Amino acid sequence: MPDGQASRVGGDQLVASQFNCFVPSAFDSIVLMYNAASGAFAAVSVEEFEDIAALMADPGSAPAEEVSKLTGAGFLVPASRDERADVRSAYFEGRAAETGLNLTIAPTVSCNFACSYCFEEHPKRHFSDEDFQAVTAYVRENLDAGAPLSVTWFGGEPLAAFRQLKALDTALQAIADGRGSTYTQFMITNGSLLTEERIAYFASRPGFTGAQVTIDGPADIHDARRFTSAGKPSFEKIMRNLKAIAGRMAISLRINLDRQNVDRIPELIDLIIGEGIADWVSPYFGHVVDYTDECGDLASTMLTREEFAAAEIRLFNLMIRKGLRPGLDLPRPQAGSLCVGDAPGGAVISPGGLVFRCWNETALPEGEAYARIDDRGGLVRNGVKEERERFWKAYDPFTHAECADCTVQPLCRGGCPWEADKRPTDGPGHCTPLRYNLPDLLRLIHLRDSIDAIEPGGERPLPRQTV
Ligand code: SF4
Ligand code: SF4
Repeated sequence: MPDGQASRVGGDQLVASQFNCFVPSAFDSIVLMYNAASGAFAAVSVEEFEDIAALMADPGSAPAEEVSKLTGAGFLVPASRDERADVRSAYFEGRAAETGLNLTIAPTVSCNFACSYCFEEHPKRHFSDEDFQAVTAYVRENLDAGAPLSVTWFGGEPLAAFRQLKALDTALQAIADGRGSTYTQFMITNGSLLTEERIAYFASRPGFTGAQVTIDGPADIHDARRFTSAGKPSFEKIMRNLKAIAGRMAISLRINLDRQNVDRIPELIDLIIGEGIADWVSPYFGHVVDYTDECGDLASTMLTREEFAAAEIRLFNLMIRKGLRPGLDLPRPQAGSLCVGDAPGGAVISPGGLVFRCWNETALPEGEAYARIDDRGGLVRNGVKEERERFWKAYDPFTHAECADCTVQPLCRGGCPWEADKRPTDGPGHCTPLRYNLPDLLRLIHLRDSIDAIEPGGERPLPRQTV
């Protein structure tokens, strides 16, 4: 590949983008071309790729139309362009341009589970009538007309306070409707309290985009990690609830991986197929990491980033071969905020009207919150935590030295700020698994899409697989 080679077109030097990723596909004779800064993706024959490589080595002698296709896709860039500066500007400008409210609301911080690796303590605190007043007033005060309102229901276990959640949901919908705003909601739940009444409720909500439910393996493994606060197993109940959904809502099925369960996930994949829930659950993997002091000692069981990235590919590959549709999208570069923490309209709100910035802080007591919402929707700031608020407002994801050479930087931008902030700046931030598995992921996505493209009942054979 003509990496870094420059040529001249009409006075402009063009060079290969430092974010190009060109890899052989899973099929003979097909090469995949991807650019992490533009998100462009193409599958071309080996012969076409040879022509493209020659063109990229000498764009000055190539037809302008061909050159313009490659520059348009971001595979070729002007030599004078600072691609890293563009990633940085896209972050800061995108973030500054964000409107609306991005709220994570925990109607309770208590939970009916006591998972072995949980990052939260679970004091028994639910939303009160005063909290309802405070949060609705806050949204009325801060939601501009026409700006989007996005809510993630979180906890504890949000369905342990379903009455409060429902009341708030109804009120927020009315406020959004009155402002001409779109209102979308998503829920993080352990899945154990998803009764028929609740499934029907969420299925009827127009802006409800789905829920995340976690299953960590077949019953014995899952129950050893994700048990109720009374120490009871939870697998059977969650699986029963997932079956009862019967396609009425989309479920992101999170599977948290560590050394204790990674080799048992193939059995879970068979169970998902066997239980007939594959059409509405979309499995993906979480990396068990010791985010907070509450997580317990996970050092001996945690997978390294590299091990996690390799396991992810191995298991996605298995799912595809078995006909499952994992939550596997072409990675897209993002502009603007990384999460609720650095979003201008971001807030994590817990009982007591306490305001935080990160999910990891949700269950902390009032003294740790940077503000509390008063009954008129104003913020009463906690002077002791001012520095923390300043950190989020001024967050700069481009301070880690290793990120400056990273070929997936537009996709990651330093990763989770909470984790990146713990790391010395002469190393990386909080690396996305894509740093280690992007080529394999591209191959898998192409493989899956090639299978999908085959007409039902069609006889057309797949090109021969080589990896
Ligand atoms: S800082 Fe990290 S853990 Fe906290 S909300 Fe953002 S992504 Fe999540
Ligand atoms: S945190 Fe890691 S993967 Fe992310 S941009 Fe930095 S070096 Fe790359």
